[in-house]
Amino acid sequence: MTKIAVLRAGGDARVAATPDTVKKMTALGLDVSVEPGAGARAGLPDSAYEAAGATVGGGALDGADAALVVEAPLGPLPRGLAVIGLLDPYAEDDRAARWAEGGVDAYAMELVPRITRAQSMDVLSSQANLAGYKAVIDAAGAYGRAFPMMMTAAGTVPPAKVFVMGAGVAGLQAIATAKRLGAVVSATDVRYAAKEQVESLGGTFVTADLEAMKAMETKGGYAKEASEDFQKKQAEHVKAHLAKMDVVITTALIPGRPAPKLITQDMLSGMKPGSVLVDLAAPRGGNVEGEAEGVTVVRPQNILEGLPGEASNLYARNLLSFLTLIYDKETGALKADPEDEIVRGTQLTRNGERVHERFAPPRT
Ligand code: NAD
Repeated sequence: MTKIAVLRAGGDARVAATPDTVKKMTALGLDVSVEPGAGARAGLPDSAYEAAGATVGGGALDGADAALVVEAPLGPLPRGLAVIGLLDPYAEDDRAARWAEGGVDAYAMELVPRITRAQSMDVLSSQANLAGYKAVIDAAGAYGRAFPMMMTAAGTVPPAKVFVMGAGVAGLQAIATAKRLGAVVSATDVRYAAKEQVESLGGTFVTADLEAMKAMETKGGYAKEASEDFQKKQAEHVKAHLAKMDVVITTALIPGRPAPKLITQDMLSGMKPGSVLVDLAAPRGGNVEGEAEGVTVVRPQNILEGLPGEASNLYARNLLSFLTLIYDKETGALKADPEDEIVRGTQLTRNGERVHERFAPPRT
């Protein structure tokens, strides 16, 4: 019987399997073993895992065929194990080399290709969506005023002006959340396609040069680094816009690179006293530079700590979907097809070798 271990994360409140996904795994014929306390910080007690059919105890990894994790386990792992989770393939250490050497097959879920068939496994999207929501909730908490316009007998409360920079998965959810709270919302992105998405959510799209944007879009829907000329024009335009904003949420990322700096000290200093800024790109170096008097800058290192139950539910379902792809029900064994686009896109190491086309060292 194939055995799946669910490991407890060290620095993260999320967990890689929930009682709900454990039930589904056992129904598939898998034997699930959970480290004690793995779900505790997500509000999921050991007893709930036991009730769902898992074994809870030390030695979860003993005899395991695969481990589901939230973050990369940096300690020794048994030879032959498949490890599946947010393994941070861009980290500048020798983790992939060590996994290869130790005979561990590592799958980095942040590399799941953005194709239709893989949507249910897309951890970046499921987590970014929640992060975008939470960023607005946190901003509303830190902002000392109301979001919606209120017309009362005692006078009118004006609506908050919210500006979202980076209108990907997190940014679009931030726009939707701010709209639901009654704010007047504007947003920007370097991708031309984002304009229509922002507008369909009731936001205003902010850009210095729409034509230049059209020329910058790449096939995968990701942003390319913008030209210097565009960046300069856009920065001037954004600076003037920022000076009028009450709340700003920044979400801009470029895969595998440090986050682009979108708000400089100079721009920040031009913002209104009492304004609030939440920088969701903080864990990747941040979109915002410096501090300014009267402006609250929030730089959450792991915003999903504040939504661990929801984040775990979605993350666990993403992992279950991936596990289903590499599990052969007929033989009851794990059998990842190295030719499968999703496997090829995520697998860092296989049978003692580094195999990912982007991360493996060139063969000599
Ligand atoms: P991301 O987290 O890598 O980046 C967030 C946003 O920041 C992106 O929209 C990016 O264009 C933007 N950005 C980068 N540099 C910027 C700059 N200098 N100024 C302003 N914005 C900047 O992106 P993401 O949210 O993971 O995904 C981006 C897009 O990919 C989505 O909006 C969607 O269209 C597409 N996508 C497709 C699928 C799918 O087809 N299955 C799944 C998820 C996302």
